[in-house]
Amino acid sequence: MTCELVFVGTELLLGDILNTNAQYLSRQLAAIGISVLHQSVVGDNPDRLRQVLETAFSRADTVLTTGGLGPTKDDLTKEVCADLFQKKLVLHDESLRRMKDYFDVKGVVMPKTNEKQAWMPEGAVIFENTNGTAPGCAMEQDGKRLLMLPGPPREMKAMFECSALPYLRQFSDGVICSREIRTFGIGESSMAQTVSDLLDKENPTVAPYAKSGEAMLRVTAKAATETEAEALLEPVVQEILQRLDGYVYGVDVPNIETAVVRELLRRNISVATAESATAGLIAKRLTDVPGASAVFGCGIVSYQDHIKEKLLLVDPRVIEKDSAVCETVAVQMAQGARAQSGADLAVSVTGLAGPGKDDRGRDPGLAYLALTDGRETFTRTVNTGQTGPDCRDFNRTVFSSQALDLIRCYLRDHPDAAPNA
Ligand code: AMP
Ligand code: MG
Repeated sequence: MTCELVFVGTELLLGDILNTNAQYLSRQLAAIGISVLHQSVVGDNPDRLRQVLETAFSRADTVLTTGGLGPTKDDLTKEVCADLFQKKLVLHDESLRRMKDYFDVKGVVMPKTNEKQAWMPEGAVIFENTNGTAPGCAMEQDGKRLLMLPGPPREMKAMFECSALPYLRQFSDGVICSREIRTFGIGESSMAQTVSDLLDKENPTVAPYAKSGEAMLRVTAKAATETEAEALLEPVVQEILQRLDGYVYGVDVPNIETAVVRELLRRNISVATAESATAGLIAKRLTDVPGASAVFGCGIVSYQDHIKEKLLLVDPRVIEKDSAVCETVAVQMAQGARAQSGADLAVSVTGLAGPGKDDRGRDPGLAYLALTDGRETFTRTVNTGQTGPDCRDFNRTVFSSQALDLIRCYLRDHPDAAPNA
């Protein structure tokens, strides 16, 4: 099966709405072995929509659309698609009844305009909308298939999973499985060099990606069944893990904070944070992970010098001599946070997020980090090299990732570390 995606909505063309449906559908279709050849975005204009659909069908046998199923006059997807397949729209009683029930539950009388949403192409397979009013549908004719899904992501996703996916599975000729190997501390090009011979493989394929200071490899296999695809993946994944030993923080984990919190939870080790440049971002990322409260007691955001002195017991003479952005302050912040919180570990960051230089003329992107377990203290100096007008966000993200990585490396290098209590 070859497939194209068509996203309908003038708001997408104007840039008002990010086309998140594109990423979601492409991923989902790839996962069941359906090749997406093109994605198109078109406004709420019937002639242009028809043109896009005709072009799509000249290249592919299956087209999925999202959007334009709403009750208003500019929502025209169904009308255009039905016309293309030379079908009439007929009232689908069950959808009309479901829509009335949907409004009843809310205690609202269904507006007359919504009735339009229950008119469906004759002979279509109807997809129920469990999260809204507009039903979707699939039409098939002369080996061509056209599936229509609503625009709002919540409605589209539920309908895709419950109705469109089972419908499409009958035509899919295999599965695609992939693994994401996530690393920290190695650049994308060094990582690619380490596995360069594997990048030429065809099944599974190995592809490098980089994002906000991290590098990742995606290994993808195509096979008749999931078991066969997994068997193709496994040896390549193992080979990569061996070659990138020490840099890999997880396979198929969404991010480094998840890997760190899972390991803290597994070993029942608690952590506290003391943050200057990142102002709570490390704490935020740790607590984004469900269950983090069992291992995260407190984070101290200490921006001004006197707060570092008062809450984290940093020595004012050090700040006086070397400024608040130096290794000794980072060390004292970590030690202070651990003493104040009673956590097993404490991690700290003090740095220059930018965009301006500091009063000593140092460029932004510089940060000092420390981690202490009460016996030993480890430090890390980071320089992102990002100094432009928009560097602040990037620098803070990288500083926080580096702090999370400092915890990860500590846990990796101290397999016997245990809670102090
Ligand atoms: P529609 O069904 O075209 O009336 O779409 C209704 C709403 O769904 C739009 O206003 C957007 O907020 C959202 N939406 C439509 N298409 C997309 C898309 N491709 N990605 C993300 N959101 C979308
Ligand atoms: Mg629309």
